[in-house]
Amino acid sequence: MARKFFVGGNFKSNGTTTQIKSIIEGLNQASLNPNVEVIISPPAIYLPLAKEIASNGVQVAAQNVYDKGNGAYTGEISAAQLKDVGVNWVIIGHSERRALLGESDKFVASKTKAALAGGLSVILCIGESLEEREAGTTIDVVTRQLKAVADEVSDWSNIVIAYEPVWAIGTGKVATTEQAQEVHAAIRKWLRETVSDKAAEETRILYGGSVTDKNSKELATQPDVDGFLVGGASLKPAFVDIINSAA
Ligand code: PEP
Repeated sequence: MARKFFVGGNFKSNGTTTQIKSIIEGLNQASLNPNVEVIISPPAIYLPLAKEIASNGVQVAAQNVYDKGNGAYTGEISAAQLKDVGVNWVIIGHSERRALLGESDKFVASKTKAALAGGLSVILCIGESLEEREAGTTIDVVTRQLKAVADEVSDWSNIVIAYEPVWAIGTGKVATTEQAQEVHAAIRKWLRETVSDKAAEETRILYGGSVTDKNSKELATQPDVDGFLVGGASLKPAFVDIINSAA
């Protein structure tokens, strides 16, 4: 089965009502490659707005979900609440949450399990820090992060993996095509050995970290790069060129 190219836009904590409307209207009017699955992820407060106005095949993802149901969890949002407003995707394990908020591999895995059980599809973010890359432990780190999820989840058909080296996020320092392909191939090998041949063949593995319209075409040529998770550049008109860079 061919893996459909996938491009996600993570708006992080950026945007106002006016700005988010304008970004989405730009995407609605753009000529987007129909062979690319496109997801945008605005801050939670703008999810219903995004759902209401996004067209042209653009889907919407939350940037987080809690691993419990509805209840006494102040400030959190459940999978059921995301589904209630028509959101079918969630980003889990972003390095900004792992690093700044101390989210552990175990918590990321627990949230992934809860999201899948609640009917959401998951963009699961993994990636090594600069120190870990320099120590030569990149593959150990990403497979450790993946294993925590595999301990909780056996069906990977609603998971998209985003490999995002922490040193490349928001720094302007993109991984080379060789660096990206090497890690993506190792992730696919891990899927084959740990989950199943089917998961290895069908799971989309995105690259994230300073992707722009200038570097996306070359990255997209790599056999194990099935798309991108884009931060800063997803707020700009050039996001359309990144979407259309599918090889
Ligand atoms: C991200 O936030 O997932 C990301 C990859 O950010 P940026 O593209 O800005 O590096």
